[in-house]
Amino acid sequence: MSERVRVHKALADAGVASRRAAEKLVIAGRVAVNGVTATVGLLVDPAADQITVDGKQISSTGQSRVYLLLAKPAGVTSTVSDRHAEQTVVDFVPAALRQGAARLYPVGRLDRDSEGLLLLTNDGAWAQRILHPRHGIEREYAVGLVQPLTGEQRDLLSRGLALEEGTARLIALRPATSAETRRLDTIIGQGARGLHWYQVTLGQGMKRQVRRMFGAVDAPVHRLLRVRIGTLRIGDMALGATRRLSSAERGQLEGLVGRPEGRGRPDPAAGDGGLVVSVDGPGGSGKSTVGMRAAERVGYRFCDTGVLYRGLTWLAMTRGVDFDSADALVGLIPHMRLEHDKQQRYVRLIADGKEITDELHTAEVDREVSRVSQHAQVRAALLPLQRGLADGGRLIMAGRDIGTVVLPDADLKLYLEVSVAERARRRAAERGVADDPRALAQIEGELRQRDEVDSTRATSPLRVPEGATVVDTSDNTLEQSDAQVVALNRTAERDEALDD
Ligand code: C5P
Repeated sequence: MSERVRVHKALADAGVASRRAAEKLVIAGRVAVNGVTATVGLLVDPAADQITVDGKQISSTGQSRVYLLLAKPAGVTSTVSDRHAEQTVVDFVPAALRQGAARLYPVGRLDRDSEGLLLLTNDGAWAQRILHPRHGIEREYAVGLVQPLTGEQRDLLSRGLALEEGTARLIALRPATSAETRRLDTIIGQGARGLHWYQVTLGQGMKRQVRRMFGAVDAPVHRLLRVRIGTLRIGDMALGATRRLSSAERGQLEGLVGRPEGRGRPDPAAGDGGLVVSVDGPGGSGKSTVGMRAAERVGYRFCDTGVLYRGLTWLAMTRGVDFDSADALVGLIPHMRLEHDKQQRYVRLIADGKEITDELHTAEVDREVSRVSQHAQVRAALLPLQRGLADGGRLIMAGRDIGTVVLPDADLKLYLEVSVAERARRRAAERGVADDPRALAQIEGELRQRDEVDSTRATSPLRVPEGATVVDTSDNTLEQSDAQVVALNRTAERDEALDD
C-alpha cells in the first residue's frame, strides 16, 4: 500500500504549487479528491486517488515532467495565479508542448514589461533548485536605453549601488556588440532600432534589480530583455515562441546548481511577493516590540497573538468565568474581536463592543493568562482566525506557537531569546519600577513561572520551531534587534524569487 499524505502536500509534490499556495487552493474549494471537494488536512493516496484542481486532474505519478523555454513578450504577466491578468505566460504555450501538464509555472518571474527568456515547468522541486539564489545562476539582460550611458553612470553602476535590501551589484556591464544588436533586431524587430543597448549580467536576485539600478543613476530602462539564464541562451527565438528544453540543456543547467536541495520556497504560484514571518519567544523577549517595528520598516502587517489570549483572560476575569472550564472560555471567544490600527497592526482588542487594548498588559492578566492558553480547545478555536490573517502574505505574526503550530509553513521563522533577568528588567522598566529590587524580583519570578507553564503545557508548548533562526537579543539595543529582524526578512525575501 502506498503512503498517504495530506492533500496540500500531494499537490506540492506534483508541482502544482508550494505547500502554502496549495493549502490556499484547498481552502478556496478548488481541489477535489475522487470527485469530492477536499478539506484542509485531508489524507490522500497520490498513487490511487484522483485529485483535481479546478476540475483538471493532477497526478504525481501519471503526469510527465515538462520543461519549456519561452521568449516572453512585453505586456504579459508571468504570475500564473493572477486572475486579473488578461494574459499570462502560460497562454503562450501550445497544447502539444504542455504534454498534459495540469499546471505550468514560471521559474522566477519576469516583470510584466520585461521580455525574453523564461523557464516554465510543472516540476516544483526542480524549479526551486534552479531558482535558489545560493546557486547564483547568472542571468544576462539586453538593456535598451534612449540615451547612452555617460562614463560616470557606467562607473556608478559597475561599482554597485545601495538599494534598500543591500548593495546591488552587476557581474558585468558593457555595450552590446554589433552582432548582439543585430540579433536583437531579429528577436524584437523594429523596436530595437534607435536604442542604445547594453549587456548586463546579474548574479543576485533583488526585485526589479536592473530597472532600479539604472533608475538610480537616472538612466531609465526603456526595454529589458533576458537573453541568458546560466547556460541557456535565447538564440533567435522570436518573442512569444516556446520550445522544449532538451535533456542536455537541462543537464547543463543542473550542472550549475549541483546537489538537489531546497528550502520549500519560493512560491511562484502564490505570486504575492511578500512573506509570512513567524516570531516566537518567551514573554518579554521583545517579540511584539521588535516584530512591530520590523513590520513597519518592511511595510508588512503585524499581528500580536498574545493579545487574543490576554483578551480572553480579561473577559474571563471580568465575567467571573472559571479558568479551568475550556467550554466556558471558548464560549467567550465570539464576544471579542481582534482589530488592526492605522498601521495595519493587529494589536487592538474589542470586547463587547468596547476597546480593552490598554487593559491587557496588567499584572493580573499576566498572572492568569497561561491558565487560559493551556487549553487545547481554546487554542484550536483561535487557530482559524490567526491562519486567516496569513492568507494575504506580507505579515509578521508574533506569539508562542506561530512557527510550530499556527503557521508551520511560514517563509521565515524567528525565535527571540533573552535571559530571564534581562526580560524582567525590561518589563520592570515598562512599568516604571526598575529601581525597586522587590518589584524586579517579583516580575522575574512571575516570568519564570509563565515560561515554565508555557513551555511544558501539553498543547503547543513554547519551543524553537524547526528551521527557525534564533536571535539572542540579550545584549542588543532595540534598534539592533529590529535591524537584525529586518535584515533577515530582506534576505528571505531575496531568496524568494530571482527577479530582474
Ligand atoms: O506574548 P504575550 O506575553 O502577550 O502572551 C501572553 C500569554 O499568551 C503567553 O504567556 C501565553 O500563555 C499565551 N500565548 C500563547 N500562544 C501565543 C501567544 C500567547 O499561548 N501564540
